[in-house]
Amino acid sequence: MKLSDRVDILSNIGPARKKTLEEMSVTTVKELLEYFPRDYEDRSLTTKINELEEGEKYTVIAKIQAKPKLARVNSLVIVTAVIGDNTGAINAVWFNQSYLASSLKQGEVYAFTGKTTERYNRLQLDNPEFEIYSSYSLNIGRIVPIYSLAKKLSQKIFRGLINDAITNTKQEFEEFLPKKILDEYRLCPRNFAVKNIHFPEDKDAFFKARRRLVFEELMLLQLRLIQLKGDITEQRSKFKLDDVDCSPVCKALGFTLTDAQKKTVDEALNDMSSGKVMNRLIQGDVGSGKTAVAAIIAYCAAKNGMQVAIMAPTDVLANQHFNNLGKLFGKLGINVALLTSSVKGQARKSVYSDIENGSVSLVIGTHAIIQESVHFKKLGLVITDEQHRFGVKQRESLFLKGERPHTLVMTATPIPRTLALVLYGDLDISVIDSLPPGRQSIDTFAVGTDYYPRLYDFIKKQVAQGGQCYIICPVIEDGNLKELKSVVSYGEELSQSHLSGLNVAVLHGKMKAEQKQEILESFACGKTDVLVSTTVIEVGIDVPNACIMLIENADRFGLSALHQLRGRVGRGKRKSYCILVSDKKNKVAKQRFNAMCKSNDGFYISEKDMELRGPGDFFGTRQHGLPDFKIANLYRDTEILKQVQQATLALCKKDLHLENSENRALKEKMSELYSKENKDICL
Ligand code: ADP
Ligand code: MG
Repeated sequence: MKLSDRVDILSNIGPARKKTLEEMSVTTVKELLEYFPRDYEDRSLTTKINELEEGEKYTVIAKIQAKPKLARVNSLVIVTAVIGDNTGAINAVWFNQSYLASSLKQGEVYAFTGKTTERYNRLQLDNPEFEIYSSYSLNIGRIVPIYSLAKKLSQKIFRGLINDAITNTKQEFEEFLPKKILDEYRLCPRNFAVKNIHFPEDKDAFFKARRRLVFEELMLLQLRLIQLKGDITEQRSKFKLDDVDCSPVCKALGFTLTDAQKKTVDEALNDMSSGKVMNRLIQGDVGSGKTAVAAIIAYCAAKNGMQVAIMAPTDVLANQHFNNLGKLFGKLGINVALLTSSVKGQARKSVYSDIENGSVSLVIGTHAIIQESVHFKKLGLVITDEQHRFGVKQRESLFLKGERPHTLVMTATPIPRTLALVLYGDLDISVIDSLPPGRQSIDTFAVGTDYYPRLYDFIKKQVAQGGQCYIICPVIEDGNLKELKSVVSYGEELSQSHLSGLNVAVLHGKMKAEQKQEILESFACGKTDVLVSTTVIEVGIDVPNACIMLIENADRFGLSALHQLRGRVGRGKRKSYCILVSDKKNKVAKQRFNAMCKSNDGFYISEKDMELRGPGDFFGTRQHGLPDFKIANLYRDTEILKQVQQATLALCKKDLHLENSENRALKEKMSELYSKENKDICL
């Protein structure tokens, strides 16, 4: 059997299964073997029946002691078997699999893997996977691979196919990493890695195999990003800054820039004066003042005759930028236009023509800016705010609207530095690492729902002193889960009873853009005291007078969302508070709350976030515009990542485009990968 053979050469694959595999992009034996497990389960450890505890997953070796029983309860079919070893016996129970009543054999010893639950004061094993016990088992009594599969395909069948393929292919997987790198980083050969990633001989083989495959996956991506960056920065820009006097805009801002802001502005202006195309990421924690930085850079670009586009992920945020920057730039004689989905009809047409004839210098908007009907006269700078909310495609389309405009992307997602280098490997990075002066830390508390009376009193007191409050709910309307607070009915309840007398407004994503805008403006100018909202306000909203961020069902939110939400308060002079309300006592929720209460620092929070994310949670790489990884986990593989970085940089310094003969195999692999669907991983 060859690697290039079609999968149906394997004995267990008929037309239907072949089709299912096709849906998973597996058509050849090679692709089958390169379909890596998403996780593993250690079933090498077995447990005696008298040692089982409730709510855990176990593997037990046990004999079926009596003929399995079949029962019907309403529409449910239940098969129950008493299984026992020399320490005791329990029930194993399966639902809606009536055939098991006849296929499970009394007197036979099986290995069962499943979770224990307690019913009628007795433990039972729910829906266990099972297999006749033998020491050569693929599914039990060893470290067992788990794959992400199409619904129709079971883990057991798929493991069987993989095992068949491994035993029957004589052909080896070719090596494509340069020998020098294999030696230097002690990586095992590709053939060993691919075969051992499925059914490792032992733990050592598994670690070797995995490390090698993670290394190669990250290296291929990193290499691509560095090559792209190399290509881009080699490009000469049509748009060069000659005059970089930004004192008028700095004066108009009304505050002194922090050193970190100054440094970032300088870095960007240097890029744009150099004659090359700027490609820069600004990373700064919530509230660090990215908007002011963007404003200054936009101002300089406009003064030098460029058109500038600023793209925000939501209408609400685009409007906010338009209001603030519109005022600022109005004073400076620069024309600003807004382009969102709510600019319609004649107004929209006239914005289009102003953009096309160049009479507008700064366009602020949502992804409406990248629609086909928008033509810029001389787009020289593109700024995307809250970059992590955009797909790369969108960023790219905007880029294509101009003739290689400078790009500046801004994000508040504080990601650990090593990660930033991978995620944004094609960009230069500036970090705004301090907050404007006078900010007090935000006091954060985690409380249970028994605190409501006190919380409502606290809100009333703060409002009486002139403050304002956000209350965040996880859902818009009441649904199946009763304990979840919804914006609509909780908002009603608050204004009718608990907070009657205060001005309470509700805001959520299903509302019309104009309506959202009105509500937000009323909150921004202080008419509304309390804004009950979903996380639509998570990104970018800036109302310096707000001083309480109360988050309902706080266990429903991830750590970085909590941090983003908290960043909506503490933006002005008022002492501010963040209150996390939850009755959930599970470990992860508790640890998140602890991290929040302990620190206001985005980087600390992101490191914690990384620690707390369980296996299989791949950091939402989609959000960042990267392909999902087959095997690497950016959170857990940071050590390998560092090595990859080092290796790739060294390689690129010598041979960026992989022209040397020792790098030929790698070059081929790269063109195989990036000529197809992944062409657009990054700008
Ligand atoms: P983010 O980085 O989260 O986008 P913003 O740009 O919204 O932060 O700024 C947060 C608040 O801080 C705004 O109200 C802004 O006017 C204010 N601000 C920004 N820079 C400074 C500064 N250097 N001194 C004082 N206030 C500042
Ligand atoms: Mg912002």
